[in-house]
Amino acid sequence: MSNELAIRLRDLKAELNHATLVAVSKYSPVEDVIEAYSYGQIDFGENRVSELKAKSETFEANKLSNVRWHFIGGLQTNKVKELLKIPNLWGIHSVGSKKIVEELIKREHEFDGPELKLFFQLNTSHEEEKSGFETIEELKKSIDLINSLKNSKLKVFGLMTMGAIRTEDFVASAIMSFRELKNSREKLEMKDLKLSMGMSQDYKIALSEGADFIRVGSLIFK
Ligand SMILES: *Cc1c(COP(=O)(O)O)cnc(C)c1O
Repeated sequence: MSNELAIRLRDLKAELNHATLVAVSKYSPVEDVIEAYSYGQIDFGENRVSELKAKSETFEANKLSNVRWHFIGGLQTNKVKELLKIPNLWGIHSVGSKKIVEELIKREHEFDGPELKLFFQLNTSHEEEKSGFETIEELKKSIDLINSLKNSKLKVFGLMTMGAIRTEDFVASAIMSFRELKNSREKLEMKDLKLSMGMSQDYKIALSEGADFIRVGSLIFK
């Protein structure tokens, strides 16, 4: 197992160009995450607050403090406080509604780090079960709200999306979703926003469409 994990990480990193690999560790026990960390991987993504909390506590206990945790899952308002308290939380990729934005603002004081990067999730595949903002107008209001705060640690940092799940042609759907994300950035006229897009099955497409962050799980942690 060990060598294989190191090789998979190395091969994937060779493809990244400028992009950052978020290794999605949600399927894996913390031992595997620590092993990946020992190979130099520091960015990890989790989609459940309780699981992220448990893993981050193990990292803390072992003084593995260069880690950068990325929350990538659906977020409920009643979990925001617990999430913000997690040591070495680096960013949230799944900020998907005004309600969550308001809760983040309300609970910001719980966050102990220097800055919390926020990626706003857009539902570009328009599948019903996907969360995220549905329109640019809606998204713009939340971005403006955060940008209007004084001395806030909440940083408007990027946009996030996922390709369609139910599709005849996942390549075409992924391209469509990723281009829509890029177009949204243009419409917002915020060219510094980073793009978080691409998972195991479509990360190559995402990279060629200009992803700044890819979130890859099953391909790394088999
Ligand atoms: C699970 C998950 C990933 C990683 O998916 P894989 O197909 O295992 O690479 C990426 N992004 C989000 C939001 C996820 O929930």
